[in-house]
This record gives sequence, C-alpha cells and structure tokens, in this order.
Amino acid sequence: MNNYLDVFSLKGKVSVVTGGGRGIGLGIAKALAGAGSDLVMVARTASQLKEAADDIAKEYGRQVEIIPADLTQVQQFPDILKHTLSRFGRLDIFVNNAGSNIRKSFLEVTEEDFQQVMEIQLKSAYFMAQTVAKEMVRAGSGKIINLASLTSKIAVPNISVYGAAKGGIFSLTKSMALELAPHNINVNAVAPGYVRTAMTEAAFKDKDRYDWMLSRIPLARFGTAEDIGNTVLFLASPASDYLTGEVIYVDGGWMAA
Ligand code: NAP
Repeated sequence: MNNYLDVFSLKGKVSVVTGGGRGIGLGIAKALAGAGSDLVMVARTASQLKEAADDIAKEYGRQVEIIPADLTQVQQFPDILKHTLSRFGRLDIFVNNAGSNIRKSFLEVTEEDFQQVMEIQLKSAYFMAQTVAKEMVRAGSGKIINLASLTSKIAVPNISVYGAAKGGIFSLTKSMALELAPHNINVNAVAPGYVRTAMTEAAFKDKDRYDWMLSRIPLARFGTAEDIGNTVLFLASPASDYLTGEVIYVDGGWMAA
C-alpha cells in the first residue's frame, strides 16, 4: 500500500533555495522546510536571510544555513556547493529562484540593462544549476526546480529582457531535463502568475495595471508565495518522480484564458 503522506515528505532531504530571504523564495523555503527538508538559502541581503532563517527554524524545527552572496558572481558557485556539503553532507533539491527585473520599453533598453537582468535571471540560473547538477549526478539523484514566468510564453509590455530570460528558462528546463534524466534527476519549472513582492510592487501600486492584471485571472485573485511554494513542494517531493521537463503555470488560470 502506498503511504500517501510519505509521497509528499521531504524528511532527511537538503534543499538549496536561491533568493530565499523574501517574496516567492521565502514561500518556497517555508514549504520545503514544512515538509521536513533542511535548507540553505542564498541571497545578497544577510539581515533578511537571517531573519527568514530564524523564523523558519523556529516554526518548522529544521536546520537552516544562510550564505550571503551575489549570485551574478559565477566563480563563487563551487564554494556555495562546498559549504552546503560540508554543513549537511548532501544536496537533494535545488530551487533556482533569485531574480530581478528592469521595466523599460524595448526601444530604451541599454546593454547594461540587458546584462543586469540576463546575468541574474539566466546566466546565474544556468551555472548554479550546472554546479549542483554535477553533485546530483555523483549522488545518483536530485530535483531541480527553475522559476519561469507567464513571460516565458507570452509578452507583457516593457519587460522584454525579462521575457527573453524567462523564455530561456523555459527552454533550459527542457534541455536540462533531457540531459539529466539518465542520472535520475528531475528538472521542472514553476511559472507564477502575479504575486505581490518587492519585484512587482510598482505594478500592484498602479491602479490601471492592478485592474488589468486582476481582470485576466479566472480565479479572481492574485497568487501568493504559499501558492508557489506548494507547487514547488510537489516538484521537490517523490510525488513528482515521473514528471520532468514540465513548466507548470501557477497563475489562477491566466494562461488558460
Ligand atoms: P523578490 O521579492 O524581489 O525576491 C527576489 C529574491 O532574489 C530576493 O531574495 C533577492 O535577494 C534575490 N536576488 C536578487 N538578485 C540577486 C543576486 N544578484 N544575488 C543573489 N540573490 C539575488 O522577487 P520575487 O517576486 O519573489 O521573485 C522570485 C522569482 O520569481 C524570480 O525569479 C522572479 O522572476 C519570479 N517570478 C515572480 C513573479 C511575481 O509575480 N512576483 C512572477 C513570475 C516569476 P537580495 O536582493 O537580498 O539579493
């Protein structure tokens, strides 16, 4: 008989979440810890990471390690992996969540803007995943979850670089799934609809954009970090062992309409 609670359990697992200090990453970190995983969280703002880690450790009784680092600095990635392995001895789940955005019309984007968004949203995601995947190949299993977006598939005005990066995440998820499947590593992506965070605060404050966004959501509410965390938990757990290469839209039905 299948024990369906075990199928969603992360007991004994170790997860690394990039950008776990706030927003969607914090929702993801809580979901993984709540299901039993110990955690490593990586972002630039040490104070935010520390506060989040203390809350999670207290609330869920898990071990939480923080690594303050700028994830555009690709040469640090082997040290982040080494630190994780020396602290916990293993790495089972990796969530590629850290990101930022610049709002500008296509005609005004500079090379510097392009680089800034691409470096964190695509280059960093690519090479962090590559670094952890090498360890997962050695260990013989793993789960990698990328953060995609509605803009992986559709256009939203004034965020063309972000859209290009998230389109890249859509394709990268599939390429990684294909190449890592022989190593028993599942690679999937979650594509959130609109969630109110530091990144989207300006859109939520603009009444016209707020009304337009809400009007596109069949479930008639915005997403929450918990909504995204719940789907990431599914993709991190044994419940999704036969699922790889998928991009799941967690968007209240936006993409269905
Ligand atoms: P957020 O609240 O601004 O959080 C972004 C996280 O990434 C923070 O923890 C931030 O920490 C970290 N980060 C940013 N740049 C970094 C860098 N160079 N090095 C290390 N960490 C860095 O944004 P969010 O909305 O939760 O976004 C999380 C992910 O979801 C992103 O990939 C985003 O594209 C995606 N997403 C969001 C939405 C939405 O509606 N909110 C929709 C679709 C997809 P520090 O600033 O301290 O480094």
